[in-house]
Amino acid sequence: MAAALELRRRGHAVSLLDPGPVPHPLATSTDISKIVRMDYGNDELYTALGEEAIAGWHEWNSRWGQEVYHETGFLILTREPMRPGDFEYESFALLKRRGHDPQRVDRAILAERFPAWAADQYADGYLSTGGGWAESGKVVALMAKDARAAGVALSEEVAVTGLLEEGSRVVGVVTAGGDEQRADCVVVAAGAWTPTLLPHLGDVMWAVGQPVLYFQPPNPDDYRLPHFPLWAADISRTGWYGFSATEDGTIKIANHGPGQRVHPDASREVAPQEEARFRRFLRDSIPELADAPLTGSRLCLYCDTWDGNFWIDRDPEREGLVVATGGSGHGFKFAPVLGGIIADVVERKPNPHAARFAWRSRGEPTSEAARYTG
Ligand SMILES: Cc1cc2nc3c(=O)[nH]c(=O)nc-3n(C[C@H](O)[C@H](O)[C@H](O)COP(=O)(O)OP(=O)(O)OC[C@H]3O[C@@H](n4cnc5c(N)ncnc54)[C@H](O)[C@@H]3O)c2cc1C
Repeated sequence: MAAALELRRRGHAVSLLDPGPVPHPLATSTDISKIVRMDYGNDELYTALGEEAIAGWHEWNSRWGQEVYHETGFLILTREPMRPGDFEYESFALLKRRGHDPQRVDRAILAERFPAWAADQYADGYLSTGGGWAESGKVVALMAKDARAAGVALSEEVAVTGLLEEGSRVVGVVTAGGDEQRADCVVVAAGAWTPTLLPHLGDVMWAVGQPVLYFQPPNPDDYRLPHFPLWAADISRTGWYGFSATEDGTIKIANHGPGQRVHPDASREVAPQEEARFRRFLRDSIPELADAPLTGSRLCLYCDTWDGNFWIDRDPEREGLVVATGGSGHGFKFAPVLGGIIADVVERKPNPHAARFAWRSRGEPTSEAARYTG
């Protein structure tokens, strides 16, 4: 959607095809919230991109005249004291070097300022003051409205089933209804469905199911700002993260772990044992929340690349095809900047960020892919 909007703004005629209503209920972007952060260990590129994206989120809030990005800060806790080399320590240090003001949170500060947390379990951490969360499903709906108003031809309930090829050149797509749509350039940005649609990418990216659980405690005010911001609990070693209570009192909790490889059209049921796993974590870390009623769950799909970096490039063997996917569990926050990167790739313009997301063979995973595995 971001690419369609940006390409249209640059004067191209753009058709956007999607099998769902947009936002598609099963699309990864469609959820109540996604974290927006610039905390990326010692990774300068994602940190800089996070800074740019946050500026973009403020512009979008102004443009839409409503707050869909909430700059609440991000509480990042560690069980052991942070040490050089840790994701958390390196994030803290890099933010400081770049002029931000993350605030260290030791056990005493945690107990005093953030009392829902079991302070005996968390020795260290910091409050990242830039960043927060975006109402992701709502954002996609607003972008779709903007896209239509800008003249993007948005067709819903139209699934692309394959590429229209003439020799090694891609000249359009074929839809489930058997129609052929021709284009100078085809951008496939089908998230977790991409490797199914383009099987030649199956060795470098795949769909991974990640359970998300929603709780509704009887006392939601205890889980709101200022004493309960967006959080990550020893995330580089455990994967746990979650949000403050929303206006209707819902608390979303998830785990940025390895997940399970799935077919994107397989059942989206969350395995029954997940609730017990989530509650074990809560009992240990946010004890009062451990018995809160569960009000919903969702199996959300990552499109994981082998190295955790996005995949935005022209297919070197299929002229006319651009692939823009590989969110790897951390793509949504960059929505305000990804359209520009994808449009530059389409127009063959240099972009300072594009090299990281270029077409590549499978190799050793990098830090973004190095998730908690245990
Ligand atoms: C549990 C979970 C938590 C996450 N948390 C965060 C977070 O906190 N912060 C963050 O930044 N990121 C997060 N992410 C990652 C982020 O949500 C994704 O990187 C991002 O939303 C991917 O967007 P997308 O447009 O690539 O894919 P999607 O949003 O899935 O969109 C793909 C679109 O392609 C369409 N499509 C599918 N098949 C076809 C077809 N055959 N023809 C045409 N169209 C098709 C779909 O209908 C859909 O609309 C999370 C992901 C998950 C699963």
